[in-house]
Amino acid sequence: MENTTSFKNLNLIPPLEKALTKQGYTVPTPIQSKSIPGLLQGKDLIGIAQTGTGKTAAFILPILQKMTERHPREIKTLVLTPTRELAAQIGESFSAYGEFLKYKHTVIFGGVGQGRQVQTLSHGVDILVATPGRLLDLMNQRILTLKNIEFFVLDEADRMLDMGFIHDIRKIISKLPQKRQSLFFSATMSPQINKLAKTLLNNPLHVEATPQATTVERIKQYIYFVDTPAKEKLLFELLKQKHLTSILVFTRTKHKANKVASFLCKNNISSDAIHGNKSQNARTKAIKDFKTGKTKVLVATDIAARGIDIENISHVINFELPNESESYVHRIGRTARAGTDGTAYSFCAAEERSYLNDIERLIRQKIEVMNHTFHSETAQNAVGAAAKPTPKNKRSFSKNRPKIAPKNKRSFSGNAKYKNRPKRSSILKA
Ligand code: AMP
Repeated sequence: MENTTSFKNLNLIPPLEKALTKQGYTVPTPIQSKSIPGLLQGKDLIGIAQTGTGKTAAFILPILQKMTERHPREIKTLVLTPTRELAAQIGESFSAYGEFLKYKHTVIFGGVGQGRQVQTLSHGVDILVATPGRLLDLMNQRILTLKNIEFFVLDEADRMLDMGFIHDIRKIISKLPQKRQSLFFSATMSPQINKLAKTLLNNPLHVEATPQATTVERIKQYIYFVDTPAKEKLLFELLKQKHLTSILVFTRTKHKANKVASFLCKNNISSDAIHGNKSQNARTKAIKDFKTGKTKVLVATDIAARGIDIENISHVINFELPNESESYVHRIGRTARAGTDGTAYSFCAAEERSYLNDIERLIRQKIEVMNHTFHSETAQNAVGAAAKPTPKNKRSFSKNRPKIAPKNKRSFSGNAKYKNRPKRSSILKA
């Protein structure tokens, strides 16, 4: 991508230049060169950008440059992010870019006790990076106030809405002072996102980093039509290939993420799962082990993998297709970081066929179909009701079946589940 601006042209203050040199950054990424001048002038901003574009530095650098020191310390910058991992990463970026400035920041998120977070806040911070739930909790307990906020960043807005944070976000925004600079980032745009942006921003600068298609185009994508029971065997076959070195596998549910990871471990492929039910420590460890190559495969749900900055992922494998096509773009984008190419394999069973249609419509391309041992014509040709998942509660009821008590309902769906269960292979441990 063409980008000739140097950091020198952005007129950053020496402590920031020094930090960038220390990080080894020489040239700003496109979103940085497009956003920083306007942000330094005090403009609001709407940025359409995924992680991996350099968007974090695009907002942190101007904020650090514009913030004014005051005593005692008070929270002047608030960054809201959907996940703990992303919050922690943004915190690390504040440490890196702000190393030669005197501001203090802290990160707060749920899932861990609030004691230490409250203690840090009581010593005073200039910058707060937070997930919405914990922030509201602490606000309700009057442990912190947002009345002195000068800079507000809403990161990954689309994911925030997907995760059902809209009411929390609105409550938080209602407590911010009117006079402030607001920055809004989202990987995708939708009417709902646009509506939220409008309520938040005042005559904003519009910046689009890598248009989605560009990222998608750089990734080699393949579809494997396969029946659900054969997916584990197919995964195992694929993972035997030497060039698959560091693989992020996506499932739709936490349960499936655990199941796939334990299947791989039983078959001697180092693997771990991350999802919302894992403790923060377990997640941090899983990510660290994956980054260092100790585990070869990380199995994740969409939400858990969101915003995690892992470079050198050789392959993304969609063990299950996402039911929202935008998530497909997010998922496969994990393998083409920092301008490198990547590969994405997607497994598609008959009941996921309609998801695939939606994805191909969104990315405006047909994904190449792979020939393989477990190929399923049924999956490839599924249409109508057969191309959609059976709603869980209707799964085992035909029109003619008599009404049954709730207890029996459970056992019926249990039976249906059993019917779909993969047959145990003689070589693979399921
Ligand atoms: P982000 O999109 O903010 O998650 O950033 C993605 C990655 O790019 C992070 O690992 C940053 O450290 C890195 N990065 C950000 N800006 C630059 C730059 N100007 N030059 C080189 N790397 C960068």
